Amino acid sequence: MEIALVGIGKIAVDQHVPAIAASPDWELTATVSRHGTVPGVMAYDDFDQMLAERSEVRVVSLCLPPVPRFDYARRAIAAGRHVMLEKPPGATLSECHALEALARRHRVSIYATWHSRQADKVPAAKAWLKDKRLERLTITWREDVRQWHPGQDWVFEAGGLGVFDPGINALSILTEILPDPVHLTGAELHFPENRETPIAASCRFHHPQGAEVTMDLDWLEPGAPTWSIEAVTDAGVLLLEQGGGALSIDGVAQEALPGLSGEYPRLYDQMAKLVKTGGSEMDLSPLRHVADAFLLGRRVTAPAFAW
Ligand code: NAP
Repeated sequence: MEIALVGIGKIAVDQHVPAIAASPDWELTATVSRHGTVPGVMAYDDFDQMLAERSEVRVVSLCLPPVPRFDYARRAIAAGRHVMLEKPPGATLSECHALEALARRHRVSIYATWHSRQADKVPAAKAWLKDKRLERLTITWREDVRQWHPGQDWVFEAGGLGVFDPGINALSILTEILPDPVHLTGAELHFPENRETPIAASCRFHHPQGAEVTMDLDWLEPGAPTWSIEAVTDAGVLLLEQGGGALSIDGVAQEALPGLSGEYPRLYDQMAKLVKTGGSEMDLSPLRHVADAFLLGRRVTAPAFAW
């Protein structure tokens, strides 16, 4: 299937282009970006022109930041294209619901991707937790924003999510591996005095069986990142590290379940299946937790941030 990539920036170049190139399902035949291009691929800087001129491109993958994404997704669906959304699927829950309804009306597939759910050890973690009684779960997601988002001011602008941009990856794993749903009961959000989104956050969640569930996010962690989830259960301690890439149970390293390797190859494999079967996938639960944190979170002013 022919596919167009929109927003040729960091994640498009790092992950989407190689994953599409390696896939037997896809051929990248158009890009839309104001500045970026992919060698050998026809480049547009006008999205409507691409949609009008390239009817054979049935699928559009949107790699823009969340705020501009809705308008591109809306136009793609209205033009009868299947749409794949980078995470988070939108800047608000309402616009995601609107896209889902629009896709249904136009009978196209829409896929809200969560790349961290495709990390190697996430399925094994989910399988292990299925029949355990959870006592405590601790998410620790700490990294250096200057290393992972160098100069990307949109992350600190309203709708850019701030430290929840990586934090939502943890929430996408949490909502995948836990057998019981949790909901947020409180948060503390640290906003730099010169920015519109938080640079650190701590969150607490209600768990139906009374387990203590917490999340600690920090964007000023120097050196190597920590992307870990520890789950203490009645049958041992599960530790998911490296954003889902490493798993141990009571200190013993675990193997991945068999299957295709790589987060983005798995996303594109799933998109191909959705298009072929006429399906859609729009799980908004990670974004709902972030919205709840912004609704309920106590705001604390933090020192000004400069790149
Ligand atoms: P980015 O490089 O800052 O932006 C991607 C591209 O979007 C830019 O190159 C730009 O292309 C276009 N763009 C930016 N603002 C726009 C606007 N207002 N209107 C239209 N186009 C605009 O961002 P990124 O790091 O790739 O992240 C994009 C998405 O991927 C985010 O939702 C992020 O959470 C997700 N993601 C990022 C990473 C990562 O490591 N960075 C990892 C996983 C997922 P032009 O200027 O050429 O139009």
